[in-house]
Amino acid sequence: MERTWCKPLPAADLLITGGRVVDPESGLDDLLDVLVGDGRIVQVGTGLEAGDDVRVVDATGMLVLPGFVDLHAHFRTPGREDEEDIATASAAAAAGGYVAVLGMANTEPVVDSAHTLRGLARQAQDEAVVPLGFYAAITRGLEGRQLTEMCELDEAGAAAFSDDGRPLPTAAIMRRALQYGKMSGRFMALHAEDPSLTAGGQMHEGPASARLGLAGIPSISESLEVARALGVAAYEDAGLHLCHVSTADSVQAIAHAKEAGLRVTTEATPHHLTLVDECVASLDPNLKMSPPLRSESDREALVEALRSGLIDCVATDHAPHAPEEKDVPFEEAPFGCIGLETAFSVLYGGLVASKALDLATLVTRMSAAPARIAGLPAPSVSAGATADLCIVDPSAVWTVTPASLQSRSCNSPWLGQELTGKVRLTVAAGRVAWDDLA
Ligand SMILES: [Zn+2]
Ligand SMILES: [Zn+2]
Repeated sequence: MERTWCKPLPAADLLITGGRVVDPESGLDDLLDVLVGDGRIVQVGTGLEAGDDVRVVDATGMLVLPGFVDLHAHFRTPGREDEEDIATASAAAAAGGYVAVLGMANTEPVVDSAHTLRGLARQAQDEAVVPLGFYAAITRGLEGRQLTEMCELDEAGAAAFSDDGRPLPTAAIMRRALQYGKMSGRFMALHAEDPSLTAGGQMHEGPASARLGLAGIPSISESLEVARALGVAAYEDAGLHLCHVSTADSVQAIAHAKEAGLRVTTEATPHHLTLVDECVASLDPNLKMSPPLRSESDREALVEALRSGLIDCVATDHAPHAPEEKDVPFEEAPFGCIGLETAFSVLYGGLVASKALDLATLVTRMSAAPARIAGLPAPSVSAGATADLCIVDPSAVWTVTPASLQSRSCNSPWLGQELTGKVRLTVAAGRVAWDDLA
């Protein structure tokens, strides 16, 4: 059944010539032409030709990649359309090279009824340029007490279940959620946080927080909760997805769980993979997120885990906030930053250019790996596949400004900074969703 939706744009007919096609799924890393007809990849090869009515895209010097999949974004719809809506979220996704994005359920109202979920699906069919899917809440109103009508939400097309934004307060409710996940095949995504340890915290607890005089959020506030969740999952022999892993201790716990054969999958964000608590010295409220930016040794552990596959995929945790909310002193600002439009550039410029990660691995972690977790077809630049791809100019340098962003919000940690690598064209579900080349 359908679990992502977008509006019916015309199917693409394109001949993409001379680009470097990097597709770990089909084992390609070569200068090749890609012929797209009626929204499908017809042929990948050299010297390809097409009819007069087919648009030719000269991709010389550019990368042609399978499109990206994001398991973790906040669309702010319903309720906070002043921050983001379905149209702007999907436009931001397209501009970032994404071909499918899942939105979290912590909206106003919460996505805890089939009625609300169906409304979002209809809205995506009317407004989304990239297929969007929706999490349903694990507990009613995200209150952590009563499970939602999960069967009904599953039948209404919930992509998965999560109370993200809030942790599940008890092991008992976590246990029941994981039991349902095991039965239904829908995955449960957990925001691991012990609120008794994070309450009042502003940033990662360490030398930087001490120096800045800001209340700390200790790394054990995450890793203790990760350990508890893994313990419950092991007891139930149930699968589990952990959101935005940020600490070396969590990585350790996940390593042990995977060695023991637990079906746990995990994600890390571009900001936790490239920024650290020391960056918060600027007191830029756009550097305030949950979990917080951690220490350099945590960051290094995350990068190594992403490289090895211990962390399965990149997820943005795209979290738009209105300027009036973020344009306040650090202590008063809400947690969260946007990320859909900068994810690839940040990781390409930050990790691939410095050789901490090779390009093919980054592509897998942003494309096939998250797609598989979500049960979506893995995007691949190969004949017969639906055209889900993006074209990236790896040498383009661009400045992140409000005007450069498709998102309705601009609370980016990279606002005002130069990034290297820019997505020029995105074809999602066989339709041109972003075109910065025409
Ligand atoms: Zn979260
Ligand atoms: Zn989130």
